[in-house]
Amino acid sequence: MTRLVLKFGGTSVADTDHIENAAAKVAAEVERGHQVAVVISAMGGVTNDLIEYCRKVSPLHDAREYDAVVASGENVTSGLLALALQKRGISARSWQGWQVPIVCTDMHGKARILSIDTTEMDGRLEEGEVAVLAGFQGITSRNRITTLGRGGSDTTAVALAAALSAERCDIYTDVEGVYTADPRIVPQARKLGKVSYEEMLELASLGAKVLQTRSVEMAMKKNVPVQVLSSFDSPIGSDLPGTLVTREEDIVEQEIVNGITYTKDEAKITLIGVPDIPGVAAKIFGPLAEASVNVDMIVQSRSQDKKSVNMTFTVVNSDLQRAVEALKKCDELKKTEIRPDEDVVKVSVVGIGMRSHAGVAQTMFQTLADKGINIQVISTSEIKVSVLVAAEYTELAVRSLHTAYGLESE
Ligand code: ASP
Ligand code: MG
Repeated sequence: MTRLVLKFGGTSVADTDHIENAAAKVAAEVERGHQVAVVISAMGGVTNDLIEYCRKVSPLHDAREYDAVVASGENVTSGLLALALQKRGISARSWQGWQVPIVCTDMHGKARILSIDTTEMDGRLEEGEVAVLAGFQGITSRNRITTLGRGGSDTTAVALAAALSAERCDIYTDVEGVYTADPRIVPQARKLGKVSYEEMLELASLGAKVLQTRSVEMAMKKNVPVQVLSSFDSPIGSDLPGTLVTREEDIVEQEIVNGITYTKDEAKITLIGVPDIPGVAAKIFGPLAEASVNVDMIVQSRSQDKKSVNMTFTVVNSDLQRAVEALKKCDELKKTEIRPDEDVVKVSVVGIGMRSHAGVAQTMFQTLADKGINIQVISTSEIKVSVLVAAEYTELAVRSLHTAYGLESE
């Protein structure tokens, strides 16, 4: 008998009609003879509302109470789905994180899962009861409710699948799978049949917001196959209508490039006239690290006078202000001009085949050059090339790269 974990995101449980639809998907898997555990998000938009309530009542709120409030959205949907299943004659019960228990670290608002004790849930699944677990939440060793960060239900689902030794974790969402590019920008984008964990990690962290990055890291570590599929129009189950995220070894036909992504979440800082002396980079990036600013892409260029250099790097948009403040306090930069720029986008080409094929970066640079798009910063990893360009070129860059790598559907 196969064990499956099914996860339904906010848009898939947006109201009671959608919850009935989710119940139908669960019922179909039960009818196929599977043991099913479900992980569920709050109704779409509810978590945002709950966060807003906290902000209104107390802008500098106690993180533990914030968690008590924002975890509640999932309590509602888990109970409702259990009811909808019972109405269909299926034995089901809801579980809140603390009832399992799912024990988490006490970093409130961004907790990590430490352990999941599935003893009782295991037994009930064996008896044919469907478990409906509230995603996104857990309990600390001090018995406080905590949450896993935005999008955390994905991580709950993968962690539960690992703990239950489930065959697969199916993530039901509002798209049919993982695409070669954002279909809103590239109408010819193609749904990928399979994608490796490594590629999915790059795609998730680069702006393809299908799965929470941490859930992919966990799936890779625990070797849980994850399927992303639509809760609206895909057929159900083992014929894999969505995109399977799995081990590289399990993908027979590996493409060189599998996806083009973009993120507008980046901001650029240029430092004009940084003293060209040993140790200055450490003195700049040290204070940024202390201010918890993550620096991503970095380039340095020599200036004409040979005494100073220019330096450009990117940070997450929301860190820009903090980064600029930290730099202004830097003694070494007293005579340096600090130029922030938010109108940039990072466009990336991702594919595991890059490891064994040359020329991927060159195709990217040539394609952008042909369109007259200036590349401001470049960074690479083993399976990715990223460039920073002016935000106004987002669509043009993504579309022309998608064509250049032949990713269009037939
Ligand atoms: N409801 C939470 C959120 O909106 C967790 C989730 O849906 O994954 O971030
Ligand atoms: Mg999500």
